[in-house]
Amino acid sequence: MSKGFSVAAVEIISTRELTEDDWMRRAACKGLTHLFFPSPAERPQARERREATAREVCATCTVRSSCREFARDQHEYGFWGGESEDERHAAGFRLIAPIGVRARSVS
Ligand code: SF4
Repeated sequence: MSKGFSVAAVEIISTRELTEDDWMRRAACKGLTHLFFPSPAERPQARERREATAREVCATCTVRSSCREFARDQHEYGFWGGESEDERHAAGFRLIAPIGVRARSVS
């Protein structure tokens, strides 16, 4: 278990026990939580802009594959590994409690 470092996604799940998380130390998104998770009542256009910027950060990240795999396995919310919640959902990795846009496509 690792603690004492800051990755956008990890900042949100700071109370969760982490395992196999060494890749997080090399994350390009440290300190950029605002790009990887929506603010309350975020509008669709704002989400598109935010996620486009997050995607650019992920494109430079050396641990993208590990990050994407982690988010898929953990059914995470937010933008991880160059992938949005909708993209993870479309790939077959559903959110545990889908809300909003994602809830419409849950069968
Ligand atoms: S792939 Fe993206 S979300 Fe994952 S650690 Fe890298 S910058 Fe952060």
